[in-house]
Amino acid sequence: DVRVRFAPSPTGFLHLGGLRTALYNYIFAKKYGGSFVLRLEDTDQSRLVPGAAESIEDMLEWAGVPPDESPRQGGPVGPYLQSQRLELYRQTAEQLIESKHAYFCFCSSQRLDLLKKEALRSGQTPRYDNRCRHLRAEQVQEKLDQGAPHVIRFRLEEGGRDPVVMKADGFPTYHLANIVDDHYMRISHVLRGSEWLISTSKHLLMYRALAWQPPTFGHLPLLLNKNGSKLSKRQGDIFLQSFQRDGVLPEALLDITTSCGSGIHLQHHIEDEEQCATLIKDLQAQIQQVCGEEIQEEVVQEDYIRRVLHLRKGHISSLKELVGPAYSYLWVRPSVSSQQVAAITAEAQHIAALVLKLIAERGEELTVDRLSKDLKTLVKQTKGIKYGEVMKLLRLLSAGPSVAEMMVCLGPEEISHRFQKLLP
Ligand code: GLU
Repeated sequence: DVRVRFAPSPTGFLHLGGLRTALYNYIFAKKYGGSFVLRLEDTDQSRLVPGAAESIEDMLEWAGVPPDESPRQGGPVGPYLQSQRLELYRQTAEQLIESKHAYFCFCSSQRLDLLKKEALRSGQTPRYDNRCRHLRAEQVQEKLDQGAPHVIRFRLEEGGRDPVVMKADGFPTYHLANIVDDHYMRISHVLRGSEWLISTSKHLLMYRALAWQPPTFGHLPLLLNKNGSKLSKRQGDIFLQSFQRDGVLPEALLDITTSCGSGIHLQHHIEDEEQCATLIKDLQAQIQQVCGEEIQEEVVQEDYIRRVLHLRKGHISSLKELVGPAYSYLWVRPSVSSQQVAAITAEAQHIAALVLKLIAERGEELTVDRLSKDLKTLVKQTKGIKYGEVMKLLRLLSAGPSVAEMMVCLGPEEISHRFQKLLP
């Protein structure tokens, strides 16, 4: 039986990224006639946001991805709120202790803080030294009898930092609660954001320690902003409630969430020679339409467009985006006034020649990172010129994204065409 779940923490309201995870799970469940479960992971009691739990379920229903089982609706494997399942986690932690896969840790927060400070002072990554792993059974019993505060840690291979699975307040951590619930809720496939990928190896070890069959895992690429940065919850405008308030139709939202992967749709087409050729033809026509008279012959050439497609494939989700305002700098050359040209100093001209040589040398290996470094080095090695002055010069090539990104996208030939107008 296919059973999938969406397991948000009610430490915030539902946002676009969450909706996408929910949607993928929902679609997967429907495709295989399975069930879509909503489980609220409210084990971090200090970070709960009032009203978030109710709102998450409301928003899923509004958006058209209603769960089959949930805190509100109940279901065969409930309760669906982790704070109501503490006994189950406690039992599992005990089971891990008995099989020696976990141990009691009595280290005080002061000791942990001290360890952290020491590590930072000597330039190391702070990590718990697993001290309590080595306590003898009598020592442990004595401390327990005294009622000493403790957490429970899962034992990793020697060298790993043993993660806490049970906190001092009797609440499980994410790792424990998550696998216990996926197991007892008979989840067959875990489809979640790629930010959880690093936890998965720990989870698999815990499944093994408990002799449980793990579900199949799939990690979804993050939903990104246009500029490739991570979609942040702090931007505020990505919460479903605000879309609802602004009268955005749920269908439109689902459309957006399905079409903004990390450029995956396009990637697939570009790898195929024939499809790529069709895309390029399509683009040539669109560019001509958008840019009209201003168009230069060089920029509608196949090679140029092909290069751009390959460079941008991870950043765009449709061809239309490529002919939109954000990328017009690729197709339309800037007009430069004679004053601007006159203001270019001899030093800047010298640098321009060096830059041209450099990018020609780098050829296909030109990347944004490398070019940024190259430019800095170049300025450092050249006396009598400031970094800002060079940037100003290069900006004459075009407005648009960062100078390095813009130059990488334009490529050596187009840059030299544009420079020709600037340099005597
Ligand atoms: N509670 C986690 C979250 O906030 C769940 C991650 C998972 O799906 O395992 O997304």
